[in-house]
Amino acid sequence: MRHFPIFLDLAGRSALVVGAGPRATAKASALTAAGAVVTMLSDRPAGAADIAAAAIVFICLADDVEARRVADLAVARGVPVNVVDRPGMSTFVMPAVVDRGEFVVAVGTGGAAPILARRIRARIQALLPERLGRLAAFARRFRETVKRAVPSFDARRRLWERVLAGPIADLVLAGREREAQAAMVEAMNRREPPPAGIVHLVGAGPGDPELLTLKALRAIEEAEVVIHDDLVAPEILARARVDALRIPVGKRAGRPATTQAEINALLVRHARGGSRVVRLKGGDPFIFGRGGEELEELRAHGVPFVVVPGITAALGCAASLDLPLTHRDHASALTIVTGRGRPGEEPPLPADPRHTLAIYMGAADAVGIGERLMAGGLSGATPVAIVENGTRADERVRFGTLAGLGALAAVHRGGGPALILIGETVALARGAAAPTASRAAG
Ligand code: SAH
Repeated sequence: MRHFPIFLDLAGRSALVVGAGPRATAKASALTAAGAVVTMLSDRPAGAADIAAAAIVFICLADDVEARRVADLAVARGVPVNVVDRPGMSTFVMPAVVDRGEFVVAVGTGGAAPILARRIRARIQALLPERLGRLAAFARRFRETVKRAVPSFDARRRLWERVLAGPIADLVLAGREREAQAAMVEAMNRREPPPAGIVHLVGAGPGDPELLTLKALRAIEEAEVVIHDDLVAPEILARARVDALRIPVGKRAGRPATTQAEINALLVRHARGGSRVVRLKGGDPFIFGRGGEELEELRAHGVPFVVVPGITAALGCAASLDLPLTHRDHASALTIVTGRGRPGEEPPLPADPRHTLAIYMGAADAVGIGERLMAGGLSGATPVAIVENGTRADERVRFGTLAGLGALAAVHRGGGPALILIGETVALARGAAAPTASRAAG
C-alpha cells in the first residue's frame, strides 16, 4: 500500500483550487459536494496567505514550474496538496470515487494507473445499489435511538446486522422507506431483532444471463433459498451462492409440476424460517408467471416481499431478431397474449393488421390460432415467426406466413419454450426477407 487511505471531513472548511479549465471545475464541484467552501484562483499567482487559509489545495496548472512553487508553499505549511496528473508533486492522490451519498467507495492505484482505478470503479458501481446512500442515511437516523433502546453493544450489533442484511434494508433499497421505518420502529418496540426472512420475486429474463437486471443479479447472489422454474437457465442459477438451497418447482422431463399451492407454501415456510428467498421465474414474474397469485399468499401471511422485473420473452426475442415490436409505419400496438386459456376460455386475439401479436404458450395450438385470426379478417399472407429458446445459445427461428402457421409450428419440435410473433413488423426482422430453408418449410 503506497498511500494511506482516509476520508477527510471538509464540511464548512476552505478548499483552494488553483488554475482553470474543466479539471479545476470538476475538482471544485466535488469539493462543493463534500460541503467545502471553495475558492478558485486563476487570475493571479497563489501566495502564502491563500495557502494558509486553506484546509486542502488542488493545483490544476499546465505550467509545472508554477505548479511546483505553489505545491511547495502548501507542503511548507502542512496543507495537503494535490497537483493533477503529478503524483510526484502531491502529498495525496485522488481515488476514483463511487458516490452514493453517505456511502462512498474510493479506489486508488497510488497514481500509477488512474484508468485502471476508473475501470474498477465502474464495476463496483454496477454492484452497488443506487439507494445505498439512502440506506446509510436511514441507519444514521436510527443510530441514537437504537443506542438508547439497546444498551448492550453485542445486541446492538446483532440488531444492525439483521437490519442491514434483511427485509428492512431491502425495503429502503427498493425506495419504500416508510414501510422500512415502520418495520424498524416495530422491531425496536418489541425489543427483539427484526424479521430476517423476505421473498424477492425475480424475473430472470428469457435465458441469456446477460439480460438479468442489476437488481435481479444482486438478489440472486444474496439469496439463501432459490425457488425456480424450469425456464430459468442453469447459467443464471449458477450465479447463486454455492451453499444456497436450490428448489426446482417446474415440470421437468415427465415429472409432475409442483402445484401452485405447494409453491406458495414453500415460499411462506422458507421466508418465515428467516431465509432470504428468491422466487426466480423466466422472463418477467408478472407476465404469465403467476407472480400475482404468489404475492397474494405472501401478503396474507405477512411475509415481506420485493418484486424485481425481468425482460419478458417477447422483448428478448424481438431484440434477438432485430424486430421492432412497434413501428410508425407498421404497428401501433403490441398484444402480449397466451395461446392457452383456461379450459373453456379462449383468450382474445385481436385480428388487426396494425398490431403485433406476441403469443406465449401458443405453439401447441398454432393451427387453431391461425384459423381464428384469419376468420377474424387477418390476411393469410401476414408474416409470422416462431422463436424457440429465444436469446439462448440454442435459439431457433422460423419465418412464414399466417396461412402456414400450423405447418411452421409442426416443424418446430425442439421442445424448448417457443414464442409466436405475428404482424407486419415480423417482416422487418433480421433474416425474415431472405428465403431460408426453414422459411420454405412454412
Ligand atoms: N414469465 C415469462 C413467460 C412464462 S409463460 C415471460 O415473461 O417471458 C412460458 C412461455 O413463455 C413459453 O411457453 C413461451 O411461449 C414463452 N417463453 C419464455 N421464454 C422464452 C424463450 N426464451 N424463447 C421463446 N419463448 C419463451
